Amino acid sequence: MKELEEKIKQYGTVLPGNVLKVDAFLNHQVDPELMLHVGQEFAKLFANEGITKVWTVESSGIAPAVMTGLAMKVPVIFARKHKSLTLKNDMYTADVYSYTKKTTNRISISKKYVAPTDKVLMIDDFLANGQAVEGMLEIADQAGVEVAGAGIVIEKSFQPGAGELKERGIRVESLARIKSLADNKVTFVED
Ligand code: 5GP
Repeated sequence: MKELEEKIKQYGTVLPGNVLKVDAFLNHQVDPELMLHVGQEFAKLFANEGITKVWTVESSGIAPAVMTGLAMKVPVIFARKHKSLTLKNDMYTADVYSYTKKTTNRISISKKYVAPTDKVLMIDDFLANGQAVEGMLEIADQAGVEVAGAGIVIEKSFQPGAGELKERGIRVESLARIKSLADNKVTFVED
């Protein structure tokens, strides 16, 4: 998505550890118009899939997920993160290791908002090692719902997440694909 790549080129900064900071339009300040276009693009890519719900993980996935839900006219659920180990039996849960924060969070989705007939689209801001999407897939498995695929705003293609998910047969659609962040420079995968 050209508009997204332009924003990354203009505002993205590279932090140590291969982390791309996009606080100017995605992770802190949010560009609503760009997010609307992101949502419309995912809606187009996953049209005719019979998607009934969009899932994401709080908090950075919420903006693109809400816009996707708006464009698809389906509800959006954001899995909540808890540091505590408390287990509640009205929740589906999975443990997710955070690449950027180097901590493990338990993510949970209330059973109240999951129907066995759901077909879910998973949205996230970044795909790196694939832990966040894996966590949502684990919950989908527990809930017995169908998964249409994953819509990713920024894929770091040099990290293993996208490849591993595709190998498992999960459809992954990424709107910007980064080949390298070496030497503090963002290089995109050529289409
Ligand atoms: P994964 O679970 O695929 O390893 O990493 C995805 C999650 O880690 C995303 O939800 C995102 O919040 C965070 N993340 C991973 N890489 C980056 C990065 O380069 N920049 C930012 N801002 N977040 C990242």
